[in-house]
Amino acid sequence: MSELLNDLDFFGLDDLLSSEEKMTRTTVKQFVAREVLPNIERHFADETFASELVPRMAELGMFGANLKGYGCAGMNNVAYGLIMQELEAGDSGLRSFASVQSALSMYAIYAFGSEQQKQRYLPEMARGKLIGCFGLTEPDHGSDPGGMETRARRDGHGWVLNGTKRWITNGTIANVAIVWAKVDEGITGFLIEKGTPGFSAHDIKGKFSMRASITSELVLEDVRLDDSSRLPEARGLKAPLACLTQARYGIAWGAIGAARTCYRCALAYAKSRKQFSRPLAGYQLVQNKLVRMMTEITKAQMVCLRLGRLKDEGKARPEHVSFAKRNNVGEALDIARAARDILGANGIVNEYPVIRHMLNLETVNTYEGTYDIHTLILGRDITGESAFE
Ligand SMILES: Cc1cc2nc3c(=O)[nH]c(=O)nc-3n(C[C@H](O)[C@H](O)[C@H](O)COP(=O)(O)OP(=O)(O)OC[C@H]3O[C@@H](n4cnc5c(N)ncnc54)[C@H](O)[C@@H]3O)c2cc1C
Repeated sequence: MSELLNDLDFFGLDDLLSSEEKMTRTTVKQFVAREVLPNIERHFADETFASELVPRMAELGMFGANLKGYGCAGMNNVAYGLIMQELEAGDSGLRSFASVQSALSMYAIYAFGSEQQKQRYLPEMARGKLIGCFGLTEPDHGSDPGGMETRARRDGHGWVLNGTKRWITNGTIANVAIVWAKVDEGITGFLIEKGTPGFSAHDIKGKFSMRASITSELVLEDVRLDDSSRLPEARGLKAPLACLTQARYGIAWGAIGAARTCYRCALAYAKSRKQFSRPLAGYQLVQNKLVRMMTEITKAQMVCLRLGRLKDEGKARPEHVSFAKRNNVGEALDIARAARDILGANGIVNEYPVIRHMLNLETVNTYEGTYDIHTLILGRDITGESAFE
């Protein structure tokens, strides 16, 4: 097993995990070591998604892992979080794929779909036979999705949709897009299958971050849908926001994995690289950086474990998730940047995973609510004053 994937468990948190949770983590860790790491730098360099991994991920129960029924694994939220952590120890793009499939697309159908929609899509999505994407962001509306311009207007018994969604993970490889649009009553969601006339997806190229993940623009030009394509229980912005809370929960765990890989790499490098009289690890300034990394990873692990247990008890609030997403991703990004620094010139080449993780984490810090937007969510929570507008 790769040294970089070894656990960091300063406070013995493993004692608080069940044997099933540890087994799930080990299985995903091995999958990442054997099947992801050997090719991930090539995929990142070529801007390609490793679609060959999808059947195996499905076989391991990773899609909709914490959903019950419909062919989903029905794991608890800590096991689900550990899956995200190990996937992102490999690459944030791979974790993004799993998050979008599970927490955004499958969850949207699970929570807001009709029984017929659940039966039609969820088992096939759990098996990785159908891929989903989640279209909320628009070219001019990111942090403020309530300003969206995509419109659905009634047309007899059906709907006609027009608009553009941008920065949509999995867009061009998705068989079904969950698209959020404004109707007279507010915001609701629609299921749009690939090939529907008027609907098209185009990849966004030239990214320096998440290069091993597909990011697309979705264009809707007079897309005609039956009412059976509408998510009947999705009423208002709170529906997509509930999906985002699910995804942000997984991201908070995932960021620990990326940070851990960077820390492990920097620690090993500092121990072996000699400058002046000793290994880098023997200098106080370098130790300060390493200790800070280890401390922040350990704190992030504690936050996630507590959050996961609260979620299983039905006591996690969206603000708890904002706390974890904001803190863990912000710290992971700082850790990746510090690791890059410790590696010196070697920190910029793909012989080491650090620069890839660092670049990926720039996206993770921005999507699913930027660091600052989560600050505003928490600021509103503790002061009672909304500072968004
Ligand atoms: C690789 C990638 C994949 C993505 N995948 C998806 C996806 O699958 N589905 C989807 O719907 N979206 C997706 N997104 C979009 C992502 O969620 C948005 O980029 C994010 O919400 C931020 O929106 P924005 O980029 O428009 O930035 P903006 O909202 O324009 O924000 C720009 C800056 O202004 C700050 N800001 C904004 N409002 C305020 C305020 N009120 N007070 C203070 N500061 C503020 C922000 O914090 C940020 O620093 C993805 C993005 C990327 C990069």
